Amino acid sequence: MQQQVLDLIDSQLTEWTMVRDNYAALSSVRMRGFELNDRCEVVMQYNPERKRSSGAKVDAASLKARKCFLCSENQPVEQEAIEWEGRYKIQVNPYPIFPLHLTISAMEHTPQEVSGRRIDDMLNLAAELTQFVLFYNGPRCGASAPDHMHFQAGIKGFMPLCDEVMDMMLWPEEQRLLDSKEGFLGFTGALGRNLFFIKSSERVVASLLFAKLQLAMLLASDNLDEEPMQNILCWKSDDDGDYCIVVFPRSKHRPDCYGEGEDQLLISPASVDMGGVWAIPVEKDFNTITVEQVQAIYDELCLDNAGMVKIIEILLQQN
Ligand SMILES: [Zn+2]
Repeated sequence: MQQQVLDLIDSQLTEWTMVRDNYAALSSVRMRGFELNDRCEVVMQYNPERKRSSGAKVDAASLKARKCFLCSENQPVEQEAIEWEGRYKIQVNPYPIFPLHLTISAMEHTPQEVSGRRIDDMLNLAAELTQFVLFYNGPRCGASAPDHMHFQAGIKGFMPLCDEVMDMMLWPEEQRLLDSKEGFLGFTGALGRNLFFIKSSERVVASLLFAKLQLAMLLASDNLDEEPMQNILCWKSDDDGDYCIVVFPRSKHRPDCYGEGEDQLLISPASVDMGGVWAIPVEKDFNTITVEQVQAIYDELCLDNAGMVKIIEILLQQN
């Protein structure tokens, strides 16, 4: 399947002019890197085309008024797809952040959620698309189509966090909540944002640990009716073949500084930003943003330590 996907990317980049131009523009895009702390880095990418995502109106009325861009009948005729298991279509993302960037959307127009078999879908996709990292944005955490279920995938090696989180020095026994010989669920704040990490040699164990984490996050939240606010990264490790899932619990959708005014930043962080690459659509923002602002936005949007402790206590009770 991966080869089919790589062939699809090739043919879309050859035959679809707008997409070819957007990917060509990306190869000469301006970047700035920061060291966030002594363990990790973040990269700023000046990417004007992403304004449609960062600036997207995702309130119920705006969603109702627009034609869904993930529904096949509204997509440009040039946009091709590969069907996966009859339930998803895999497509080239026409407005990329990654040099290879896919959108993987449900065949039906159905709300964005990752409960039930969706995480198994994500793990199975990661098992097939071994050159990619899969990611998922919760409906209130950066998804620009919260009304249409979709994952995305970007080429490995692009988001610094994926390598940083694999540093096993981060995962001594006291950072592991659920641990067995098949894998563990751990937590850390050492990479500048609070996160949970699941690593397992077995797909079914990774899925089970994720289900336990989701339940604990839900019980710890004030809202039992909606899925916990979160961004998720998922991939199969090239080093040991393990399944890896990073969950960033969120407390907030957009920062207070969000906007296009003089003292504002048009930044709406989602999975890729959590992974350490910030696609910034406004040149002024790109030129002026500081590492202190980046850290402050992570602190504002990610779940704080007290929130993490609440989830951790529930997980330990379950164990
Ligand atoms: Zn749709």
